[in-house]
Amino acid sequence: MGIGRKKAMVTGECVACGCCEGKCPLNAVEVYKGVIAKVDTGRCVGCGRCADHCPAQVIFICGQEAVS
Ligand code: SF4
Ligand code: SF4
Repeated sequence: MGIGRKKAMVTGECVACGCCEGKCPLNAVEVYKGVIAKVDTGRCVGCGRCADHCPAQVIFICGQEAVS
């Protein structure tokens, strides 16, 4: 049981296209001031859905595997 500690991380090459926004089931990623996507690490569970939808491939999932 447990959520684990995997989190999404956006690199500086984000082009602020917004494709990741709205894909997160927890609303944990948004484009901040139209400049760069930011992840709310308090909400993010590292599911990777945002990364799957990033055309620039600048979202990485970091951290430990979820435990069961
Ligand atoms: S990894 Fe999943 S939970 Fe985290 S920001 Fe991306 S879509 Fe949301
Ligand atoms: S989909 Fe990728 S490039 Fe577009 S805003 Fe999100 S992190 Fe940035």
